[in-house]
Amino acid sequence: MNLANPLLSWYDKCKRDFPWRNHNFKSKDEHAYHTWICEVMSQQTLLSVLLPKYLQFTASLPNITALAHCPEDKLRALWKGLGYYARARNLQKGARYILNNLNGKFPQTQKQWQLVNGCGPYTSSVIASICYNEPIIAVDGNVIRVGSRLLNISDNSIWNPRGQKKIFDFLQKHISKTHPGNMNQALMDLGATLCKKNNPNCNACPISTYCKSYELNTTHLCPSTKPRALSKTQTLFAIIFKNPGCNSKIALIKRQNGFLKGTFGFPLNPNAHIWTKAYEYLKNIKGTAVLCKEKFSHSITHHKIKGCVIIVESTGEKSVKSVFSKCFDLKEDINWVDANRLNESLSSSLDQKIYKIWRLQE
Ligand code: SF4
Repeated sequence: MNLANPLLSWYDKCKRDFPWRNHNFKSKDEHAYHTWICEVMSQQTLLSVLLPKYLQFTASLPNITALAHCPEDKLRALWKGLGYYARARNLQKGARYILNNLNGKFPQTQKQWQLVNGCGPYTSSVIASICYNEPIIAVDGNVIRVGSRLLNISDNSIWNPRGQKKIFDFLQKHISKTHPGNMNQALMDLGATLCKKNNPNCNACPISTYCKSYELNTTHLCPSTKPRALSKTQTLFAIIFKNPGCNSKIALIKRQNGFLKGTFGFPLNPNAHIWTKAYEYLKNIKGTAVLCKEKFSHSITHHKIKGCVIIVESTGEKSVKSVFSKCFDLKEDINWVDANRLNESLSSSLDQKIYKIWRLQE
């Protein structure tokens, strides 16, 4: 029994049509650059969002030199709508690592790719197998589902590293030595198009004769539901601070701490007493702090955020910096952004929600 042949024949006929698959790349490194970008972009991103963003990103930054030297504003604009900006930052760090530490020479093996920022075992295996023909299986959520069904594993062991190693070891024995990249892409496509979570289309599956859960009629039990990670709920106050000298300018900061570290947006504060503290302080200096009725909620990985928006106006009797630090414990530098251009300066979806609430209030 060998899974490679039926999978490769099926892939030749049924593979999904993507720009990074059909492009005529001039070199393995150019192919690797595009595969790397699309793999990082596709994490936690819908395909319909990914496709136009990938085309725009690679047209604007066609190689590691362009990516390594891209100014932050431009990188943020290219990443806008994809979320988790840390991924874009890691891509840029990775491009700089290849340029500066490897003299621009691309890594070739899965092990070498894992030294590039943001490249875990999965992304490294995808790039090494597709672009440099290394026979190594890439295991992601789709492949875990296919593997658990092939082996009929229905318990929770599949969600820990040992269980996933079982799937890796099994598929690794079957990997095509001549077309490992196509084998990985065939498994990805099989998981996405036939071996779906609900109602897998086993009649059309090229490897159904090797599938234990199909044989035992247990596909609905494999894999088990992934145990949920406990999520933390946090309350955040978002501050819309109007410039005392010019009301149409709003304060944005580059966040130095917390899970949004490094992002550019409205000042945030988790202190439950911040609202009363700000209200009292501003009253005494003839300023105002208005708490918007509309609330926002937001989820980032295991964080759930319940938030309120405070609109602050100060008369300018005290310096803005001192109001900022006294009321809101903020030490970051302020960037005054024109209210009409605010929307385009905000890259995170959390800031977009805050912006909408403020617009409703205005
Ligand atoms: S036979 Fe069905 S359950 Fe088994 S791998 Fe194919 S699609 Fe998935």
